[in-house]
Amino acid sequence: MILMKDILQEGNPTLRKRSIDVSLPLTDEDKTVLSQMMEYIINSQNPLLVEQYALRPAVGLAAPQIGVSKRLFAINTFDESGKKCYCLAVANPKIISASEEKTYLNGGEGCLSVDESRNGLVARSKRIKAKAHLFNIDTGEETDVTLKLSGYVAVVFQHEYDHLQGILFVDKVQPVLPGINPIVFSVDEEK
Ligand code: ZN
Repeated sequence: MILMKDILQEGNPTLRKRSIDVSLPLTDEDKTVLSQMMEYIINSQNPLLVEQYALRPAVGLAAPQIGVSKRLFAINTFDESGKKCYCLAVANPKIISASEEKTYLNGGEGCLSVDESRNGLVARSKRIKAKAHLFNIDTGEETDVTLKLSGYVAVVFQHEYDHLQGILFVDKVQPVLPGINPIVFSVDEEK
């Protein structure tokens, strides 16, 4: 089980490396990385486990953050409406288009690899289209998909995708984002 001590912190050179594509179908080793990352995220959304293991809550985690320079990440979150849950174990993602229109998280982005005091505003494309190889952790099924994401999930996807290029959100933080509309949550904002 991944704990905070296993998550690399800003300053570690592995976070700045470009990750490499994995071979497909996924190896058992790569499936384990995806499963472990998803397990961390799900655990981190359980208040009892957060307290017990001192976890920082997360909606996404990328392989470089646990020292694995491979194009793998996991996302588990509801969209801003609170209606649709996205549980994505992603390999070899490629963003093939991104809208000119931007959005951002009102409360700022944060990252398990960056101290919470540095949360900040980042402009992201409001809509993206990405190709990816998805692993269904429950069934073991693997599928190649084209994802169309918008709003909050698109922001999370872009944050995790950046990790695979060695980019951290703090590289993109701006004090204000005039002319850009933030994501509006219809449920409580701390997702
Ligand atoms: Zn991050």
